[in-house]
Amino acid sequence: MHQLDDCIFCQIANGHAPAYKIHEDELTCTFLDIFPATPGHCLIITKEHFSDIFEAKAEALAQVARNSVLITKALEQVIAPDGLGVYQFNRACAGQTVFHYHMHLIPQFEGKNIGIHSKQAGDPDELAALAEQLKSVLP
Ligand code: AMP
Ligand code: ZN
Repeated sequence: MHQLDDCIFCQIANGHAPAYKIHEDELTCTFLDIFPATPGHCLIITKEHFSDIFEAKAEALAQVARNSVLITKALEQVIAPDGLGVYQFNRACAGQTVFHYHMHLIPQFEGKNIGIHSKQAGDPDELAALAEQLKSVLP
């Protein structure tokens, strides 16, 4: 599987960098965004390094899509948001900042106009507790 030593998401996928992981399978890995736009902000990545959708293999992206349903159900159980934003950016001009394919799942709440990127790091204890809760409701 193609991975890069200097890519933070490859390092998370292969366990060489820490992350609040909540789910993984052969093709994908899901963890909490450390700069959450809202509590429960998740990233689903491919384990193989694809910079973006221009490079990605359809099979891996199909698994990302399948797991987005699974993770949404876990977020619904644990966070119960009013809505959910699903975002995915490709290349810098489209807003991508980490150049390893990933999909954002961002819980949304009535009356709050939330952006996609936060400048504030999440509280490590809160992230760890939330990751445990989400893991406990995932297969
Ligand atoms: P983008 O490439 O713009 O779609 O977004 C990249 C996202 O990755 C941002 O929301 C960052 O907060 C998030 N991020 C960057 N590094 C990490 C990390 N080590 N662990 C978790 N999330 C990260
Ligand atoms: Zn990578």
